[in-house]
Amino acid sequence: MRHTARQTRDNRTITVDFRDDTTYYQLLGDGKAFVECVLAFLLSLGFQLTHKASCSEGGSLTRHSHYARVRLGGLTIWRLQCTACKAVFTVLPHFVLRYRQMRPAVARDTLLATHGGLSLEWCAVLYNVSPMAIYRLVCAFGRHSLVTVLTRCGLPLPLYVLADEKHSKCLTDKVYLPTIVRGRVIWHLGYTTEASAVAFTQSYGEFQCAASQQDPSYQVKGVLTDGFDSTTKSLRTLFPGVRLGTCLRHALLKLPKKLVAITSPLRQALRTQFHTLWYRARQRKGLRVFALGQRLRRFADHVTNTAGEANGHRVRQWFQAKKAGWYAVLADPQMPVTSTLLDQAHNAIDRKLFMMKGFHHPGGSQQAFLTGLAHLYNLIPYQRRAQHAGQCGVEVEGGRVPTADWFLNLQILTSGGFREAMTLSTT
Ligand SMILES: [Zn+2]
Repeated sequence: MRHTARQTRDNRTITVDFRDDTTYYQLLGDGKAFVECVLAFLLSLGFQLTHKASCSEGGSLTRHSHYARVRLGGLTIWRLQCTACKAVFTVLPHFVLRYRQMRPAVARDTLLATHGGLSLEWCAVLYNVSPMAIYRLVCAFGRHSLVTVLTRCGLPLPLYVLADEKHSKCLTDKVYLPTIVRGRVIWHLGYTTEASAVAFTQSYGEFQCAASQQDPSYQVKGVLTDGFDSTTKSLRTLFPGVRLGTCLRHALLKLPKKLVAITSPLRQALRTQFHTLWYRARQRKGLRVFALGQRLRRFADHVTNTAGEANGHRVRQWFQAKKAGWYAVLADPQMPVTSTLLDQAHNAIDRKLFMMKGFHHPGGSQQAFLTGLAHLYNLIPYQRRAQHAGQCGVEVEGGRVPTADWFLNLQILTSGGFREAMTLSTT
């Protein structure tokens, strides 16, 4: 029997910022200066190279070979080799995209316009590229894991997160996008065709797997969801002992739907009282949980008295089903209280999915495409007049990006040849 284990070649490409094109061409003629420039850039990033596992990294880098990229008009690309482990690194200058003819300047403008909501057709007209080329570009970046990129920016693996699935359409089929968000950063954006606990477990499991590779002891402490059964089941399976909370804002929005056949002013009055209940419960830190149970009971009685037995019964049953999730939110001060930031992320992503409907076919690379969109969401700075203007989501959450140019950051952070120098601890 033939042993057919396929040898996968590690991607050890590194994007290096040579500041301008002429510097690069000058350095091509000076091997020593070229290596020094690469090492200086590495030092400025605080990254190391991904040597082979056996390597003590005591080796030095030498110029290994060079070749001309025909598609890039014969541009010379150098490779460096570690003298100890013989790992070979391909050095891509900042003005070149891996496996792509498109110039980074064009890719930057195109992706920014796409992210900003401009249709692919308009992007194609403005930047003279095909819509398919934009789709493939997003997919190419999306082959790199969100966890890897985010931890390279120095963000700790998140202990408290928001998790929920966006319902979307793939042509006529329903699809789901299981998502994990911490603050303004997307840590996971998956794709499933079923809303089952099994499907969600598999999707959220990809995040858990990537995070465990960074830190084997990683454990999520708390997750806020909107209480959907498959979601909570899958998270409980993946993160045993996790604190599962239910979004308090959803509770407020849901109450009016539980109140049937009553006047509008009465419904409004009950909603206001319910709002006050939550407000007070969150104010009282010490006995919050105990106080909440008592207040919910009293509120259900109040509904019975004012809106009738049927409504009171419905509200009481609803409380019964949801209160564990609400308690979980109030019992831990670090738990997120509402899922607003996750809804925002979903809305931003959904507009692009709609825009890209033509590519959203069963045979497409949905997972890569979505991950690519999530990278853009995390790394493109907010517009001038927005809150946190000029900063990207990663920076708002306390992460560092390599340069002031978001697109160069995307190139650098998705380079397979880099790895972060320090082992990160979760906070
Ligand atoms: Zn080495």
